[in-house]
Amino acid sequence: APDYIRSIMPYEPGKPISELAREMGIEEANIVKLASNENPLGMSAQARDAVHAAVADLGRYPDGGAFALKAALCRRFGVKPEQLVVGNGSNDILELVTLAFLAPGLSAVYSRHAFAVYPLATNARGARGIEVAARNFGHDLDAMAAAITPQTRVVFIANPNNPTGTFISGAALEAFLGQIPSHVLVVLDEAYTEYLAPEQRYDSIGWLERFPNLLVSRTFSKAYGLAGLRVGYAVAHPDVADLMNRVRQPFNVSSIALAAAEAALGDEEFIARSAELNLRGMAQLTEAFAAMGLEWIPSAGNFVTFKAGDAIGVNQSLLRQGVIVRPIAAYGMPHWLRVSIGLPEENARFIEALRQALA
Ligand code: PMP
Repeated sequence: APDYIRSIMPYEPGKPISELAREMGIEEANIVKLASNENPLGMSAQARDAVHAAVADLGRYPDGGAFALKAALCRRFGVKPEQLVVGNGSNDILELVTLAFLAPGLSAVYSRHAFAVYPLATNARGARGIEVAARNFGHDLDAMAAAITPQTRVVFIANPNNPTGTFISGAALEAFLGQIPSHVLVVLDEAYTEYLAPEQRYDSIGWLERFPNLLVSRTFSKAYGLAGLRVGYAVAHPDVADLMNRVRQPFNVSSIALAAAEAALGDEEFIARSAELNLRGMAQLTEAFAAMGLEWIPSAGNFVTFKAGDAIGVNQSLLRQGVIVRPIAAYGMPHWLRVSIGLPEENARFIEALRQALA
């Protein structure tokens, strides 16, 4: 293998609940998993029905052109099918960006403490990753613009960012896009966009007319509750989408996933309910952090990162109590833990376990 492959740091997924339950001697049903920014409500009933219906015919290949899902996305966002790429999760979208636009000798710019897949996918192409120092744990857009070189082809921005939850306003993003040379694709990763408060929302897809070098990446894994099915999508200029579709696997998204995503997109009430539950859970957790005198980073996502000090020890204690959160040392934050917002009773279990861990 080339050296650039050997030097990749593997993404470390969490252990399956069943394995942790066995290790800790706790019943699986008593484990609270708040580690992967999933929707604690699971998926909407409409999506579940679509899954059951799709199971009836798995003898055929899925629709490799994702015709029905693309049509639904076009109706929702007022775009054309040629502007869309459908991926096996939005990780696939990020991967396709690097396949289409990066190669040895070229580079991508991303922020410190940003989503782990940006360096992974960049390094997998033998391209150079330019990591820019963060400001208050968030993206420093001026520094990111200044880090671009003639070899740079991609800038990754996560808004809100994972694992810090930091948010960049629409106005700041628009100003940033105006500064970026046209040979650089700006990948705006909006995996958590459905959780934004009404006053935080902005119309990134509407910006595509002015900024053909913008790509908006979204996912059905978070608010839509379909993480296990793996569906994401990109909205971009037709030329950008065309290049990505050339390097895409012909049948990269399963028929069950396609059907579920289309149904999920139609259930706006479920998304509103999920966002509301998230808002209440966020208040529940941050009030508890405040009461415990813990520092946290204000988050616009469905998770919040707090300073645990001895994060390894606190995490071990939480695990022993059957509560799984996410250590983020691999993101350069060894003293912090990230917890996903769960159901009110799950949040309460976490808070109580954290009190014990810190006692
Ligand atoms: N982008 C960000 C910022 C994320 O946090 C995640 C999930 N951890 C993803 C993309 C990828 O999610 P998926 O592949 O499930 O769409």
